[in-house]
Amino acid sequence: MKPLNIAVIGGSIAGLTAACLLARSGHGVRVFERSAGPLAGRGAGIVTHPGLRSVLTRCGSPAGAADLGVTVEGRRVLDRDGQVIAERSLPQILAGWGRLYRLLLDALPSDSISYDTALSSVAHQGDQVVACLANGCRVPADLLVGADGQFSMVRSQFLPTVAPAYAGYVAWRAVVDEAALSPKTREAICGHFAFCLPPGEQILGYPVSGREEGIEAKRRFNAVWYRPTPETALNALLTDTGGVRHALSIPPGRIKAEVLAGMRADAERILAPPFTEVMLRADNPFLQAILDIETPTMVPARGVALLGDAAFVARPHVGMDVTKAMEDAAALVDALDAEAGDVGAALAAFDRRRCAYGAAIVARGRDLGAYLQAQQHGAAERLAAERFRSLEEVVAGTAVPPDVALG
Ligand SMILES: Cc1cc2nc3c(=O)[nH]c(=O)nc-3n(C[C@H](O)[C@H](O)[C@H](O)COP(=O)(O)OP(=O)(O)OC[C@H]3O[C@@H](n4cnc5c(N)ncnc54)[C@H](O)[C@@H]3O)c2cc1C
Repeated sequence: MKPLNIAVIGGSIAGLTAACLLARSGHGVRVFERSAGPLAGRGAGIVTHPGLRSVLTRCGSPAGAADLGVTVEGRRVLDRDGQVIAERSLPQILAGWGRLYRLLLDALPSDSISYDTALSSVAHQGDQVVACLANGCRVPADLLVGADGQFSMVRSQFLPTVAPAYAGYVAWRAVVDEAALSPKTREAICGHFAFCLPPGEQILGYPVSGREEGIEAKRRFNAVWYRPTPETALNALLTDTGGVRHALSIPPGRIKAEVLAGMRADAERILAPPFTEVMLRADNPFLQAILDIETPTMVPARGVALLGDAAFVARPHVGMDVTKAMEDAAALVDALDAEAGDVGAALAAFDRRRCAYGAAIVARGRDLGAYLQAQQHGAAERLAAERFRSLEEVVAGTAVPPDVALG
């Protein structure tokens, strides 16, 4: 196969995975990342699935399952008083996002990524697709991979009507060092994938590996608290300390003091005590609006592929966005290998294989979040959505690949 010249836009999970695998297949790859430097030290927790681990191995990472994250044996549900009201065995490996990011970055030759290099548009010139960068450079390629996340510039240029759809609820995310938690809280939740389901809301949490390198030594606890919120209330929540209104999420450290104080007061009023402690002790809780993004095609133009969040964003209940992004990248490389580098044929095969899967993951997220979303609607919808509030549905379906959860 003739090696291709490939431009990857976005140096996060999807982009790094694609770059590693493409380089290992013999192609020439260059990654263009908008951020000024590596994204290390950021991010919270992720659920790993077998698909993620096998793609990571294909990337050449020496990390086995044991040093990827923390293993929990199962799930438990606490009531408002902190009593365990349900348990289920379900072993899973839970990692810090930064840990996975670092493993991927380490697997990639360091000179193949350019930071502080944002894409501003895509052009076509003859057979080539051209990445037009904000610094004025034009980079011709045989294939351009849009791995530029949920607000993808690549997607919005070719599919301008595809936009994030707000789901009617937000998530507070918090990460806290386990060592900062009381022994009672550690005992109650830190060895489990734990839930508490107050009326109309949901919080879950699980232990994750340390910030980058450490696993057991510096374990942290990662919590996600889903709260129904009318769209009209987002303005106040997402306007930061400097008066800037963020689109759909607000970074740690920029949330207004009164918003944080309100969240903390509600945590004390609503949550089981171990979860309250996590929300109160977390250094830098942050807030994101929950949304769905669904593209009709992952090949929006000749010689252009979309991967990961640039194509589909499912609600976090599915726990699959990172795995999906890595599997998208692997599927693209498999298609190029199978079609011996014929970009057009490979992209058509890739689109057939991954687009329906992405849509299914988004649909699964909608189902799992239907109860939370319905809190904004009438009594009939709330009643219909009660199904996905049952302990059994939540505990069995959250962060489990759909084929496993649906049996
Ligand atoms: C810093 C960070 C922390 C995260 N933490 C978590 C977490 O804790 N848990 C979790 O479940 N998910 C987390 N995510 C999201 C998660 O990575 C994605 O949901 C999933 O892995 C798909 O990844 P992606 O590479 O498609 O998109 P993303 O991870 O969103 O990455 C998109 C990348 O493209 C870059 N980019 C965007 N526009 C341009 C442009 N015009 N030119 C060049 N580059 C551009 C962005 O800077 C970013 O690095 C995080 C993402 C980031 C960026």
